[in-house]
Amino acid sequence: MIAKKAMGLPLKGLRFAIKSGDSILQNATTQVTRFKTWFDDTKAKSALDEQPTAKRNYATIAAQSDVSINDETIDLRELEFTKAPINWIPATILIATPIAAAIITPWYLFTHQVSAPVWGVFGAFMVWTGISITAGYHRLLSHRAYKAHPVVRNFLLLGSTLAVQGSAFDWVSGHRTHHRHVDDRMDDPYSAKRGFFFSHIGWMLRNYPSGKFDYKNIPDLTKDKVLQIQHKYYGLWVLAANIGLVAAVGWLLGDVWGTLVLAGLLRLVLTHHFTFFINSLCHMFGSRPYTDTNTARDNFILALFTWGEGYHNYHHFFQYDYRNGVKLWQYDPTKWLIAGLSKLGLATELRTVDDTTIKHAEVQMQFKQAQQQIDTVSASGIDIPHIMQSFQDRIKFEYYAFTQTVEEWQALKAKAIEMKKNEFADRLHEVDEQLKLEYAKIEEKIHEHNDNLKIAFRSIGYNKKAA
Ligand SMILES: [Zn+2]
Ligand SMILES: [Zn+2]
Repeated sequence: MIAKKAMGLPLKGLRFAIKSGDSILQNATTQVTRFKTWFDDTKAKSALDEQPTAKRNYATIAAQSDVSINDETIDLRELEFTKAPINWIPATILIATPIAAAIITPWYLFTHQVSAPVWGVFGAFMVWTGISITAGYHRLLSHRAYKAHPVVRNFLLLGSTLAVQGSAFDWVSGHRTHHRHVDDRMDDPYSAKRGFFFSHIGWMLRNYPSGKFDYKNIPDLTKDKVLQIQHKYYGLWVLAANIGLVAAVGWLLGDVWGTLVLAGLLRLVLTHHFTFFINSLCHMFGSRPYTDTNTARDNFILALFTWGEGYHNYHHFFQYDYRNGVKLWQYDPTKWLIAGLSKLGLATELRTVDDTTIKHAEVQMQFKQAQQQIDTVSASGIDIPHIMQSFQDRIKFEYYAFTQTVEEWQALKAKAIEMKKNEFADRLHEVDEQLKLEYAKIEEKIHEHNDNLKIAFRSIGYNKKAA
């Protein structure tokens, strides 16, 4: 049940419809607002499962209104960014390792024979390092998307140390700040609004104000003894893993230098930049099927390099889900690993967002895109062509029906909460079964709205994926 707990139904997007001034739509919006109020109340009761995205969006609006009042403060903070001192250790590592890899690797490969086992170890270390960041630092520690057996946890922790991306305290604190303040130029440590270079690597090269973490947002980690040790002796751990461990494996294979060059240096540089793509390119290129309130995108090509983290639009909307590529066919090896570990009993309490909530978010985005299409044609000043007029009518009708479905869903959820409060424990199972059936009906209806929207889009020759 915990795993299936719905996390959020951001409904702000539905407000787009008010623009049309249509009375039907206004009525529908009133209904949705009522639902939103109810949902926000429910959400507030569950602090752990709260989706900071929703909160942050309101905060961003509030912050925007402050901008004009505090121009001077903003200027001063901006000055702090331009004058930020160099972060010498990370800057040296991040600049020296790619240069060294670009020179040493080709030279080594031209002048030495590298055996298949060394290449095998290079591949294995690539996988271990990359997936330790995604399944370990990211989904396990930052988002608590599942619980891992200590063996798995420590294995991922060692892999994350091999990645040389900071201690768990620093990584997780920064990442939680990124989610809370996404795109904020001042507070998002790797804000995409500061451009590709800054969000990819620039944010680590200097001591920017947004990169100073006080660890207040990681109380769950600061108590952990193993993580305390990793943080305290981080430099030593990094050297032991990246030089000691890699050289030891090389010694076992009879090729210490070859292993150090490939599984040490080259692997480090590649895994660095594959992870950095998530903060840079995944906020620039791709589709936005779930929300357009932030820059995060879904991108299959980037998912290939990032162990499934390319579905970043979904992730920013439903961050505690252990899956990033939520659809069955989406390439997300990290999701498969966690699901596999759970089959073996090595991962438990996998958290997911229920299908209805996900579909609801998608349909809502499609309504928003539909309205944008109508607005574009209306703004052109020419007479709305007949085909567009009928598209507009269909969208209005569908939107009204969709709002009613959402109302039904709201009533059902309220009923579920009420029933659980009142029913005796031995009847809970029965109640659950009945509710499941009713939820299935709602899900079917939302899918119908989705299909109808697709048909409407097709009628005007619009490919929503291109949006
Ligand atoms: Zn992001
Ligand atoms: Zn995240």
